[in-house]
Amino acid sequence: MIKTLLLTGANNHDWARSAPFCKELLEATGDFQVDLTENPDEALQDRAKLDTYDLYFVDYNGPHWSELAKTNFIETVRGGTGVTILHAADNGFPGWVEYEELCALLWREGTGHGSYHEFTVKMLDKAHPVTRGLPDMLGHPDELYHRMVHMHGAPYRTLAASYSDPATGGTGDIEPMVIVRKYGEGRIFHDILGHVWAGGGMDTFESAEFQRLLIRGSEWAATGSVTQ
Ligand code: ZN
Repeated sequence: MIKTLLLTGANNHDWARSAPFCKELLEATGDFQVDLTENPDEALQDRAKLDTYDLYFVDYNGPHWSELAKTNFIETVRGGTGVTILHAADNGFPGWVEYEELCALLWREGTGHGSYHEFTVKMLDKAHPVTRGLPDMLGHPDELYHRMVHMHGAPYRTLAASYSDPATGGTGDIEPMVIVRKYGEGRIFHDILGHVWAGGGMDTFESAEFQRLLIRGSEWAATGSVTQ
């Protein structure tokens, strides 16, 4: 059983729908047990309890946490706790260097996106456990982040990417959509996809292919392999 702490409670996106959705999605596999906290700062205070988790699932883009919470988060990840970074979680914590290193690519000055539209997410890495055997996602409805800022020279591996079409307000470049890295002993699954506004549709999350990607990436971050 993959013990997961889902960190949420603040986001410019509709965390109140996406976070419970992701908890149910992961638990429906039978392989995850997810504790959802809307107060990450408090949940990250208890170091002994944190050591019981295999995975942090971050659906949070809000105020900075206390120094203790940040230190506990980073130290447990360095010690082997996996991390899933969902969409706007990579917008968060400007100036928190360790978190920026962990994400590797962040929404910072110069980053943007075109219109919400359907696009292809191409699986570039056929060898990695997360994307091995996965077909490209055709017509995936989402927001396509562009010009993500690579920070602190953090190493990462791109598993999937999309063409950002100028016709939909994009850059004309290939933009990374899924990246992974190791951070200390921790595996980081950084999923740049996953948009939902308050009051908007849940099309992105209703995509079976997107769900499969989230589950596989989270399992890999927690265990290093993929059975789903
Ligand atoms: Zn978004």
